[in-house]
Amino acid sequence: MSAPSPLRGFGGQARPKPIPPGAALGVLGSGQLGRMFAIAARRMGYRVHTFSPDDDSPTGQVADLEVTASYEDLDAIRAFAGGVDVVTFEFENVPIEAIDAIEAIVPVRPTGVALHTAQQRAREKTFLRDHGFPVTPFASIASEADLEAALRDPGLPGVLKTASFGYDGKGQSLVPSAGALRETWSRMGRPEAVLERFIPFDREVSVVAARGAGGWTTSYGLIENVHERHILDVSVTPASLPAKVEQQAADIARGVLDALDVVGVLCVEFFLTSDGELLINELAPRPHNSGHLTIDACMTSQFEQQVRAVCGLPPGSVELLRPAAMANLLGELWQGAEPDWAAAFAMPGVHLHLYGKTSPRPGRKMGHLTALGATSGQARAIALEARAALRRR
Ligand code: AMP
Repeated sequence: MSAPSPLRGFGGQARPKPIPPGAALGVLGSGQLGRMFAIAARRMGYRVHTFSPDDDSPTGQVADLEVTASYEDLDAIRAFAGGVDVVTFEFENVPIEAIDAIEAIVPVRPTGVALHTAQQRAREKTFLRDHGFPVTPFASIASEADLEAALRDPGLPGVLKTASFGYDGKGQSLVPSAGALRETWSRMGRPEAVLERFIPFDREVSVVAARGAGGWTTSYGLIENVHERHILDVSVTPASLPAKVEQQAADIARGVLDALDVVGVLCVEFFLTSDGELLINELAPRPHNSGHLTIDACMTSQFEQQVRAVCGLPPGSVELLRPAAMANLLGELWQGAEPDWAAAFAMPGVHLHLYGKTSPRPGRKMGHLTALGATSGQARAIALEARAALRRR
């Protein structure tokens, strides 16, 4: 894996003063990403406050303080900001008004600009295309006329995705024909949407990168991802791709961090075509599911890296200690009976991570398993075997 790059410029801005352990870090959102961030931060001696509309949340269960209020409640938002030294987020769909209100009191890292860009697919893809990054061919659809134009460019078959509030394949459909495109868009309620060309990719890969308030950028090695029904199923690293592809992906991720002026962690998800071309599918301006394996497999986890980045500390090493694989545990695993945890614990070298969620709905991310191995293939086989063992009841 690549070592952290030498310090780079930081937009000409003065480097902010480091936020030392003992300070309070605010997290907007309260899911599993916030939980794993909070665990890393608390281990390093920080306090963690979380804000979301939920209580007894995955993050709240491990935070010092859980604030339960609506993101629209700007008084509650301001009170929250007043109690912390910096705010980050684990959930992109926070209204920009809430971010603006916090930015008037304490820094938000990454800034609202990065959040605003990544919050909406059409905006994100337009930003990437305008900055010369390789993206899947797409068109924005807000009217019948746009829809007819999209039939010509990018053309079909395509994937129709709602522009906002889509994640884990929610609000997206494969559309093979003009009829299917018109029908699907109507059925969705004719929202603002994006039509992307369907990419018959060879593989899906991602890069988790970080940029610190101190001016550095760094990235973990390439992770290979397999999705099932548009939801991440298994991630593996190293991805065993040519060094050239690895370097290109890292360069793109660092370029995006700079272009968006991100302070924090950013994940870039790519399609790799059969010609070896990398196309950006999606950005996440935060730690990402595909990076969960860094907790058990790398010198520094993506969550500790987020703490370091937003607190103005130096980067931790991204060195991979052993090849690793991560398998997600979705709600359907709970159908009929509780998974057989003893079976997973009986496999030494398999790490179980559960997020403290109480209702296991199908498709809901409840936890994950990470396995280490001599090769990434072996790690994958162990992770899959451990997950299968959970179902043998
Ligand atoms: P997304 O929520 O956009 O990241 O999509 C989830 C998954 O759906 C991706 O990781 C792919 O497996 C699949 N997918 C999304 N868009 C496309 C596309 N344009 N072509 C082929 N597969 C896609």
